[in-house]
Amino acid sequence: MILVFLGPPGAGKGTQAKKLAEEKGFVHISTGDLLREAVQKGTPLGRKAKEYMDRGELVPDELIIALIEEVFPQHGKVIFDGFPRTVAQAKALDEMLQKRGLKVEYVFLFDVPDEVVIERLSGRRIDPKTGKVYHIKYNPPPPGVEVIQREDDKPEVIKKRLEVYRKQTAPLIEYYERKNILKKLDATKPIDEVYKEILEVIGNGN
Ligand code: ADP
Ligand code: AMP
Repeated sequence: MILVFLGPPGAGKGTQAKKLAEEKGFVHISTGDLLREAVQKGTPLGRKAKEYMDRGELVPDELIIALIEEVFPQHGKVIFDGFPRTVAQAKALDEMLQKRGLKVEYVFLFDVPDEVVIERLSGRRIDPKTGKVYHIKYNPPPPGVEVIQREDDKPEVIKKRLEVYRKQTAPLIEYYERKNILKKLDATKPIDEVYKEILEVIGNGN
């Protein structure tokens, strides 16, 4: 089963994908996580991607498509989180899947208004040791866990990322609606309720 998580930054895609990976055995492919890892390691991809990420812009399609080709799992249940983000990426994904005799089963649209996104992104904190994602109010880190804030979760970059989402990524809503695989989620609900909504659609994830 191949799932795509679509929605603005901070909508809760990674939170749900990590939970499904842990509890239901999905392979979680987050281009954001992979890019941050590449930046941290200073790989050629990381060096090319960093300036775009710092500005809140999208990393060029050819780099992202090459990255996905590289990590594409041979089998299993997969969640693509934060990919595709442009129509060109969506078409490339369709081709990659077609070659393997696969297709996207559902695209979950994490529906949340901008105010909620801004609150979630400003309160997001990361444990750099484990990569776990917390929120100062909605999912606070346990005592003793030291957390950091992502550079691109600062207010100026948040604004830019929302603009980029609207211009470059939101057209994918129509792209997947036409294929009849789009499932809208009310992502303003608490973490466990959004999770339940997803399980209702995918039938317990097995
Ligand atoms: P995305 O992967 O879509 O960018 P995240 O999963 O990192 O978003 O979530 C953004 C922030 O919002 C994190 O701090 C996370 O803990 C918090 N969060 C995620 N889902 C919810 C929810 N349903 N209710 C409240 N806060 C949430
Ligand atoms: P995310 O962790 O999904 O919020 O992504 C963080 C940043 O990584 C984005 O603001 C982009 O600069 C870059 N990025 C992640 N995924 C993609 C993608 N599919 N296409 C282009 N850029 C991406």
